[in-house]
Amino acid sequence: MTSTSAPAHNGPILKTADEIAIMREAGRIVARAHQAMREAVRPGVSTAALDRIAETVLRDHGAAPVFKGYPKHNAAPFPATITACINEELVHGIPSPHRILREGDIISLDCGCTFQGFVGDAAFSMGVGEIRPAVQRLLDVTEESLAVGIAASVLGRETADVAEAVHQFVLRHGYSVAREYTGHGVGRSMHEEPQVPNWWPRGRRQQRGWKSYPLAVGMTYAIEPMVIAGRPDLAELSDGWTVVTRARSLCAHFEHTIAITDGAPIILTLP
Ligand code: MG
Ligand code: MG
Repeated sequence: MTSTSAPAHNGPILKTADEIAIMREAGRIVARAHQAMREAVRPGVSTAALDRIAETVLRDHGAAPVFKGYPKHNAAPFPATITACINEELVHGIPSPHRILREGDIISLDCGCTFQGFVGDAAFSMGVGEIRPAVQRLLDVTEESLAVGIAASVLGRETADVAEAVHQFVLRHGYSVAREYTGHGVGRSMHEEPQVPNWWPRGRRQQRGWKSYPLAVGMTYAIEPMVIAGRPDLAELSDGWTVVTRARSLCAHFEHTIAITDGAPIILTLP
């Protein structure tokens, strides 16, 4: 799940190696839920069915959904284990037995869990059945932009550098990023400092309530590029959760939670 508002500026909470080991287990469970959903995606499947599959995996591994019951000021608490977004839906889609996948759709699935007090959060997009090459390219560029953000997450850089690396990569491929929604620190709660946007105004280290932090060993955060094949303008549907592209352009979303080390970052949400 993305972050929409800035947490208080107490700074990132650095994790110990033992805490990161627990977060790795939380992330592994999320990855298992992803795998189970990936195998179930096909034309005719409802997003509610995918939600049940993910929740079963989490609970079978002793983890709890972290999105379910998540509060929002202008809507009822989020009712499900995953967010499920089809085509022009960008983030925070509510699973439903009435939303049925069709051949050629993009489905974006985001899932988070709490395990032994720590959170894992990750998302992916995929095609349903056969998809057009242009749609596959959008998925590929979005996934690669996540890899670019991860590769930029090394000592000596700041969170603004990560944001800029993702943005420049996406721009070079002719797409835009969602500006209002960001990655975020992850730990005992799903949303901690720092916010990790997918763009950053050039030359400014603090704006919109976002603060750029130098990366430090033990920082743990989710990078989550939301990439749009068109203009970045968004709208929220009347359910108070689902965010769509205003022009109904296709979009994709990939996310991993990572930990900063003195070398390459650890991707916590891999199988
Ligand atoms: Mg997420
Ligand atoms: Mg997230």
